[in-house]
Amino acid sequence: MKCPHCNHTFALTWKEYFLEILGCHDCVACKRRFKLSFSWLYLAITVLMALIIGGLATFLIVRCTHSRVMAVVGSLVIVLVVLLPLDRWLDDNWRKSAPLEPDKPES
Ligand SMILES: [Zn+2]
Repeated sequence: MKCPHCNHTFALTWKEYFLEILGCHDCVACKRRFKLSFSWLYLAITVLMALIIGGLATFLIVRCTHSRVMAVVGSLVIVLVVLLPLDRWLDDNWRKSAPLEPDKPES
C-alpha cells in the first residue's frame, strides 16, 4: 500500500487486513489515516471469483459426496481460503489509497 499523505509504501499484514476489514488504514511512517478507494472493477473481480470458485466447488463436492450440507460448508470454506488472500493482495497492490481528511497546507 502507498500512503496518500507521505507516499511511503508498506506491506499490508494479515493482522492489519482483519483489523481494518473496511479498508481504512494507518500509515506506518506518518501515522495518518487513509482509506482504500472503492471501484466497480474491484467488486466485479471479487464477486466473479467467488461465483466461479464457489460454483466449481459446489459442483465437485455434490458430485463426490451427494450431500448438499457438505457442498455448502465445503464451498464456503474453499471460497474463503481462495478469496481472502486474493482480496488482501488486491488491497495491498491494486486498490488506490485516498486521504480520509485533506492535507493541511504547510505554514
Ligand atoms: Zn504516510
